[in-house]
Amino acid sequence: MAEASYDIVILGGGSGGYACALRAAELGMRVALIEKDKVGGTCLHRGCIPTKALLHAAEVADHSRDSASVGVRTSFDGIDATAVQSYKDSVVDRLYKGLQSTIASRKIETIIGDGRLESPTSVRVGDDVYTAPQIVLATGSVPRSLPGLSIDGSRVITSDDALVLDRVPSSVIILGGGVIGVEFASVWRSFGADVTIVEMLPQLLPLEDEASAKVLQRAFRRRGIGYDLGARFESVSPSDDGVVVTLAGGKTLAAELLLVAVGRGPVSDGLGYEEAGVEMERGFVKVDPLCRTSVPSVSAVGDLINTPQLAHVGFGEGILVAERIAGLPVVPIDYDGVPRITYSDPEVASVGLTAAQAAERGIETVEVNYPLGGNGKSVILQTQGSAKVLAVKEPGGPGRVIGVHLVGSRVGELIAEAQLIYNWDAEPSDVAQLIHPHPTQSEIIGEAHLALAGKPLHFHA
Ligand SMILES: Cc1cc2nc3c(=O)[nH]c(=O)nc-3n(C[C@H](O)[C@H](O)[C@H](O)COP(=O)(O)OP(=O)(O)OC[C@H]3O[C@@H](n4cnc5c(N)ncnc54)[C@H](O)[C@@H]3O)c2cc1C
Repeated sequence: MAEASYDIVILGGGSGGYACALRAAELGMRVALIEKDKVGGTCLHRGCIPTKALLHAAEVADHSRDSASVGVRTSFDGIDATAVQSYKDSVVDRLYKGLQSTIASRKIETIIGDGRLESPTSVRVGDDVYTAPQIVLATGSVPRSLPGLSIDGSRVITSDDALVLDRVPSSVIILGGGVIGVEFASVWRSFGADVTIVEMLPQLLPLEDEASAKVLQRAFRRRGIGYDLGARFESVSPSDDGVVVTLAGGKTLAAELLLVAVGRGPVSDGLGYEEAGVEMERGFVKVDPLCRTSVPSVSAVGDLINTPQLAHVGFGEGILVAERIAGLPVVPIDYDGVPRITYSDPEVASVGLTAAQAAERGIETVEVNYPLGGNGKSVILQTQGSAKVLAVKEPGGPGRVIGVHLVGSRVGELIAEAQLIYNWDAEPSDVAQLIHPHPTQSEIIGEAHLALAGKPLHFHA
């Protein structure tokens, strides 16, 4: 048995863990990063990156199918699933190599092995023990299922299986209309599959503003993507050529595959957290606003804690923890101010509060909805959608902007400006001063704020 000591030991090398490691090393700490599989975690190997590669292939397929609408003759001969997989894998491999080399260049010790918290200041991997005055838990999350629904990896699959599928299915039922379900629906439809989403709540993307969901739903309907909203899954049974899903009320749906996309649960079972005194809540590690657990020497970040399950949230928490441990001043993350993007066609992007959240918090608001049909670049790109801006209602006119909600092709790239507007407490009249370049999609942000500030340019209600 070997024992090695560091300034900080991090368990889990996904977005949260490796961001913490990189920042801690930059701040001069001796860091051990323990990972049982591959650094980069879900985001790089089974999440953000491979899904966005598939979505890019899907976009290329749509463009080649629709190219005649802009006068370009091409022929669309279908999807080569093996080649799509190779392209996706090449993207992941390249980023994986880059990440490994960045980690090595900061002199972080990467230990490949299954770790377990042995005490508030040590992690065991096999016979070896790694000790440090500060431990960071970052073991992430895995796909969840529903009671009585077993995943077999062939007919009933998770996003992990969907990402390595060697064919385009002829038809798919997707259980769950959240981000993951909606993104796979978009990919598979572009690849030619019949797709139906089953969502228990009354809208797709239940965490997004109702107006955005309605625009997405209309776009999906136009694309031939079916969805059953307010529908409760009851059971699934095998059929000759796939599965039959029964919903409450008796409706049945048949398809080649069922993708279960009902959310992700934390990886914490059997890892020694509770035994070391770390307080837990429904499998998540409980933390305070600075990611401190109930044990003073133990912090936790990423999907393992009950904050938005996003890679960039993990990055932010990892950096916060490294800086706090180094004694730098830190402030809690404002999770409302973190941008969220669903990369389907069309994309849905937002920051701040939805209209429903504002109402729940008793905030009176004014809003403007700017349709993308009034934006030159969006018309050129043949995309439809909308920009909705919510501001606090003040007696003298609109006050602080508290929510920006965008739908349309590539609007994810625009949300960073909205993030600045939200996080700098800007008012519509402040943003209205900024001249946006023409013709760009960024003008939808400018136009919506001009309209809210009472001086609309191209907008008419
Ligand atoms: C299909 C899909 C698409 C997504 N798309 C996006 C997106 O576009 N944008 C976005 O922001 N987020 C996206 N996400 C979410 C994002 O991937 C996660 O929020 C992020 O990966 C969480 O990072 P993490 O470090 O907390 O956990 P993880 O990335 O899950 O990393 C945890 C790591 O810990 C390791 N580990 C676990 N247990 C042990 C152990 N006992 N010993 C050693 N190592 C261990 C695991 O192997 C893993 O590498 C997506 C997720 C999925 C599934």
